Amino acid sequence: MNFFDKLTNKIPTISYEFFPPKTSAGWHTLYSTLGEVKQKNLDFISVTYGAGGTTRDKTLSLVERIQGELEIDTMAHLTCVGHSKSEIHSILEKLSDAGVKAIMALRGDPPQGQSKFTPHPEGFAYASELIAYIKKHFDFKIGCAYYPEKHSEAISLDVDIEHLKIKQDNGADFAASQLFFNNEKFYSFRDKAIKAGVNLPLTAGIMPVSSIGQMSKFQEMCACQIPGVLKGMMEGCSKQEAVEVGIAYATGQCVDLLKNGIAGIHLYSLNRSQAAALIVENLRLKGFLAVE
Ligand code: FAD
Repeated sequence: MNFFDKLTNKIPTISYEFFPPKTSAGWHTLYSTLGEVKQKNLDFISVTYGAGGTTRDKTLSLVERIQGELEIDTMAHLTCVGHSKSEIHSILEKLSDAGVKAIMALRGDPPQGQSKFTPHPEGFAYASELIAYIKKHFDFKIGCAYYPEKHSEAISLDVDIEHLKIKQDNGADFAASQLFFNNEKFYSFRDKAIKAGVNLPLTAGIMPVSSIGQMSKFQEMCACQIPGVLKGMMEGCSKQEAVEVGIAYATGQCVDLLKNGIAGIHLYSLNRSQAAALIVENLRLKGFLAVE
């Protein structure tokens, strides 16, 4: 069963997110990770799209490699940043020719040094417009982003949810979350989204953090709250203990979400497989994911 059939049949999916590295050392790490990932029987892998520059072209080659060599369904991220409609069209054609079946359709962040997103004069202003375009011209499954703790630019969570509903109405098939550490934030978001008419399968973005410094960085980057209990668990830990705490916390988060009907777990692996693999193993051992 492919990942989308699982989502529609309410069977929880498990997936990793990778990004195209900027350095040759980064590619080396990623390639050894890919070798290990093959045995993990993931439902899909998603590959991010850079904010600009050379890594953008690498998304396509990485997606092709994962699909071809690992034979795992791969979802390519695509953003509207700096692209006209015709550029977007030709990227989508290349992805379709490469056999990609799913696109994570995003607006993207303002490029570095700019505080506000300015759409390309012949491009798209919002992810919902990109989604409508993909739906009209291509045959991809379409993912979109959601933010349990509100997108940083949205005036309120309710308004942000209205915008998620537009993404659904324009053709999104499922939604993947921004990283979060507090499940209560997700449950409260889900209740509000359902009331607003959102019925997309919602997957959860989970990251096994490995240090207090890393946690603070992601708190700032993703505007997500770090629960006091997680901070407390990390305090005074050695490097190795902090890694173990991160894995244990993320496993607990996933177990709770799976018990409470999450559509899928999307692990932000940071191109390394060890922590993500241990979480997957923990969840299979506990019977929360099918044993392959
Ligand atoms: P949108 O859905 O367009 O929303 C952006 C803002 O506009 C929100 O505040 C929303 O409320 C508001 N809005 C939406 N529609 C309207 C409307 N009609 N009128 C007024 N306001 C509106 N970034 C990358 O560069 N590359 C990646 O690969 C990448 N992958 C991601 C994966 C996930 C799962 C997530 C959660 C984020 C990812 N991002 C990525 C980051 C994302 O690009 C940013 O968070 C970006 O700022 C918003 O993208 P969006 O698709 O959510 O935008």
